[in-house]
Amino acid sequence: MTKPAQIMVVTPHPDDAEWGVAGSVARWADEGKDIVYVVCTNGDKGTSDTYMTPDELARIREQEQLEAARLLGVRDVIFLRHPDQCLEDTPEFRKEIVRLIRMYQPRTVVTADPYRRYIWHRDHRITGQVVLDAIFPYARDFLAYPDLLQQGFQPHKVKEVLLWGSEEPDYRSNITDTFAIKVAALRCHASQVGDSVSPELEDYLRQRHKRLAAEEDYELAEAFHRVVLDNR
Ligand SMILES: [Zn+2]
Repeated sequence: MTKPAQIMVVTPHPDDAEWGVAGSVARWADEGKDIVYVVCTNGDKGTSDTYMTPDELARIREQEQLEAARLLGVRDVIFLRHPDQCLEDTPEFRKEIVRLIRMYQPRTVVTADPYRRYIWHRDHRITGQVVLDAIFPYARDFLAYPDLLQQGFQPHKVKEVLLWGSEEPDYRSNITDTFAIKVAALRCHASQVGDSVSPELEDYLRQRHKRLAAEEDYELAEAFHRVVLDNR
């Protein structure tokens, strides 16, 4: 019933995790850590191609996500396949996440920061909120889901949460050696970023990650808001 992985990345859409955390994911994989991706929506509305159908787009985006994950060294990719732009903070969605946390028993969970104040994709806000709630108290509490317990999903205490896209980043991760893999993983999402990440975009990304590493003794960083759980 359990397939332990040290790190679980919960991404609202295919490609968000690559923007937010792919450099760190590649480094963690290099270090021998097991990583699982949970992809909440099928991304079936994120296009400006008027000839594209939602079903075809969802199929393409799943393939692109699998390619990116393979490149980064992610062990498992779980697709929840909720329709794009339709995530809600429901008991059902929360339970899906709790079940996966109990199945994979991650030490660290990485997802989108739900607390950006103004413009922020609703799916990102909902995902972040539901994941935080799922971690505490629902994944932890013995009596939260008697049916999951009966199926063998024991309670689990996550130790650390890293939130990308935060307005209050307080934790940096060194991606100097894995930046090129991050760019290559983003290139896998051709339906989102065009057939290639253009030199301009690569340069923009490099400058951005350089700024995020300004206080560090290395060149390129991804930044997160970090929550450490004290395991009450
Ligand atoms: Zn997104």
